[in-house]
Amino acid sequence: MNDPPKSNTLDHLKFDNRFVNELPSDPETRNYPRQVLGACYSKVLPAKVAKPTIVAYSKEVANFLEIQEQACQSESFAQVFAGNRLVAGMELYASCYGGHQFGHWAGQLGDGRAINLGDVINQQGERWALQLKGAGLTPYSRAADGLAVLRSSVREFLCSEAMHHLGVPTTRALSLALTGEHVIRDMFYNGNPKAEPGAIVCRVAPSFIRFGHFQIHAARGELDLLRKLTDYTINTHFPHLGKPSRDVYLAWFEEVCRTTAQMIVHWQRVGFVHGVMNTDNMSILGLTIDYGPYGWLENYDPDWTPNTTDKAERRYRYSNQPACAFWNLGQLANAIYPLIGKVKPLEQALNVFTQVFGEQWQLMMTHKLGLSHYDPDHDDDLHAGLLALLEMVETDMTIFFRNLAEVELGNCNFENINVEKLLMPLADSYYVPEQLTPDYISRLFDWLKLYNQRIIQEGLSQEIRREQMNRVNPKYVLRNYMAQLAIDKAEQGDFAMIAELLELLRHPYDDQPEKTEHAVKRPDWARQRAGCSMLSCSS
Ligand code: AMP
Ligand code: MG
Repeated sequence: MNDPPKSNTLDHLKFDNRFVNELPSDPETRNYPRQVLGACYSKVLPAKVAKPTIVAYSKEVANFLEIQEQACQSESFAQVFAGNRLVAGMELYASCYGGHQFGHWAGQLGDGRAINLGDVINQQGERWALQLKGAGLTPYSRAADGLAVLRSSVREFLCSEAMHHLGVPTTRALSLALTGEHVIRDMFYNGNPKAEPGAIVCRVAPSFIRFGHFQIHAARGELDLLRKLTDYTINTHFPHLGKPSRDVYLAWFEEVCRTTAQMIVHWQRVGFVHGVMNTDNMSILGLTIDYGPYGWLENYDPDWTPNTTDKAERRYRYSNQPACAFWNLGQLANAIYPLIGKVKPLEQALNVFTQVFGEQWQLMMTHKLGLSHYDPDHDDDLHAGLLALLEMVETDMTIFFRNLAEVELGNCNFENINVEKLLMPLADSYYVPEQLTPDYISRLFDWLKLYNQRIIQEGLSQEIRREQMNRVNPKYVLRNYMAQLAIDKAEQGDFAMIAELLELLRHPYDDQPEKTEHAVKRPDWARQRAGCSMLSCSS
């Protein structure tokens, strides 16, 4: 392995802009909102901003991009990642995609405020696409301004890094910059526009290609473009599948079904609700992408969605995420149908989603309980029984699973036991102690007996079970109110909490005894506060 280059600048970055070089470009070079036909992207430049300052950066991302710490703290870094300055080798563009929004075909969407800088190839030969979100108008901006505000940028920056450290496939974030300019937003679309600080996140991923990239060309009958984009995607990001052919297209789609299923299992494991699972927000690599009005389950409520825009239908509620992913994959199947020409094999590939999701979900639940093997004779009841209990009284999902590891089981005698003492570790997970009726306690007790049998069956010691559980049940997640507190301070010019949360969430499974104030239930004031329990698409 080579040492990373010792450079305090960004000049050593090597770009290989395959997307731009291999796919058809929009011949119109003027930058104004329009329908872009017959092309995969349009060349654009970011808007110049008044006073770029870096609020935070991810040292892990800088590290794999081989950008030295000193370079991250330079003026040049702020200028480049706020869009004011280019580095040699960058070729900037906004890409064309479409999408189904809330179940309805929305036509052309595209990178309306994301500007791609190009793909960096690091010394390991890894490809990392860089993208500025909030860097100004593009041909895909429709009626909007191409900008982003600080609050949504803090949320994207912190959450995408937190998700990575939780082991959830996700796009990453290199930097969060203030532009020094104001952006007008009417947060709840209720006639209260306000000037907010403008910000730009530099997102990083192997690719930002979405289901909607394929859909737009299929919808327009641009079959040559559809094939070119698919071949490009397979050659660049799925080379192990071989040279594109009808069979390879199918194998590729099956892989997308599999990785998407795995991503959703992770979301369900950590209690993440994406909030806007439109097909334009589904990554072809099975990465969590586009952090908008997302949220974390605090009390376990399968019907919960943080997105106020989706309040009536709750299409993107926690419990519906697997079904939405499946539906979205169905739309992708429709889009690539012209390349395959047969329905049956696409249906078979879609079944892979159902199968993989089912198996991995069972295994995930088994692991959340510290057990090693899924037992078909007992575990379906065990899982269903537990989820019913979590719903029965307001229970904090994260704290419950974490603290369940502390309940002394394995060699306890249930006939002669002090129930209160046994259940003590779970006390912190309940929001409304009055809900803990004798009926609830007796059901919980019965469930613990079943769980105990499985622990005995696997011969698990308390220590091993705790260790196994703590590896998959995080102690720290980016609770909605925590992000909001960091935003409140940042809007006053104090970025310390962003840095603190970024550091905390690098080790979400560690106890971090000096940080336990971040591992508590949502405070009462946050229950109904905007940004904490309710979010809109405004960003
Ligand atoms: P989202 O709901 O953030 O996934 O965005 C849906 C579509 O709207 C995408 O094509 C975005 O690029 C575009 N979009 C969202 N916000 C803006 C904005 N402020 N300016 C331009 N385009 C935007
Ligand atoms: Mg989006």
